[in-house]
Amino acid sequence: MKIVISEFMDDAAVDHLRTAFGAGNVLYDAKLVDQPVALAAAVADCDAFIVRNRTQVRGDLLAACRKARVIGRLGVGLDNIDVRACEARGMKVIPATGANALAVAEYVVGTAMMLRRASYQSTSDVASGKWPRNALSNGRETMGAMIGLVGFGSIGQLTGRLARAVGMSVIAYDPALPADHPVWGECSAARVSLDDLVSLADVVSLHVPLVDSTKNLFDGARIAKMKHGAVLINTARGGIVDDAAVAAALRSGALGGAAIDVFANEPLPASTVYDGCPNLVLTPHIAGVTFEANVRVSSMIAAAVIAELKG
Ligand code: NAD
Repeated sequence: MKIVISEFMDDAAVDHLRTAFGAGNVLYDAKLVDQPVALAAAVADCDAFIVRNRTQVRGDLLAACRKARVIGRLGVGLDNIDVRACEARGMKVIPATGANALAVAEYVVGTAMMLRRASYQSTSDVASGKWPRNALSNGRETMGAMIGLVGFGSIGQLTGRLARAVGMSVIAYDPALPADHPVWGECSAARVSLDDLVSLADVVSLHVPLVDSTKNLFDGARIAKMKHGAVLINTARGGIVDDAAVAAALRSGALGGAAIDVFANEPLPASTVYDGCPNLVLTPHIAGVTFEANVRVSSMIAAAVIAELKG
């Protein structure tokens, strides 16, 4: 048995795989993702291929996996994997469902509080003797504000529970989740249409997969319908939000703040799109990546790969 891991994975989980399959049969190189020729050669005879979100498991690379039976995904979005083609070749695709949900939920609620307060970008001013107290005295509190969750699956639900814990009211849009599903009551969340969510929420946070129906879901027209001064947070996937429209809405004051963790092209190429945007947080696709989440995600996938190949 041979296992190939092309992106970073927690060391203890890699050791678990080495114990199960023999150290010489586990090829772990977090830089392989950036070496297409070496990667294609490495996967040619592997039985399981473990990736994060950067390795594109499709086309030539998928064709190079001549005997793999399992694709382990160290995360949940499957937009970097041609799942249909994998399944057609008899490969099982295993995501780490739920294992990084808490990391994303904490990012969203913490960032929402920070962006509503709009008072944390004064470090260099204060250190240099300036005292912008009046300018930073109009921040908004979070208790009593409304969060709107677009997509109410594993991350949306956990985000809703955390938001309730800091006193927010929760509305969500997820047409696949029937109105009589118990989770609405368990999370004290109201099921609403997308139009109502957009017009009512003080904070809108996206938790949908990138699929045809969610591409450009938050375009300029939809962003224009958001409540004046609302906060928009995208930890879902790039391409769901029109980032240039977000930047324009921040500059005009229509949006009160925004956080964008995911981009259509990652790493984000140097860009002037965000120049002059107030109260904007850009992060490099880390909402779901914490020390603890990496341990949970990695151990879940190691165990699943072992069960699949040895069970
Ligand atoms: P999930 O499958 O549990 O939930 C997704 C929900 O979206 C489902 O309930 C589904 O019914 C709903 N949905 C699908 N299409 C929709 C639409 N058009 N409108 C409204 N709802 C729709 O997935 P999850 O674990 O909650 O993760 C959600 C997404 O978050 C992932 O697909 C991934 O892209 C992203 N994610 C990002 C990070 C990060 O680090 N930034 C980490 C984890 C996940």
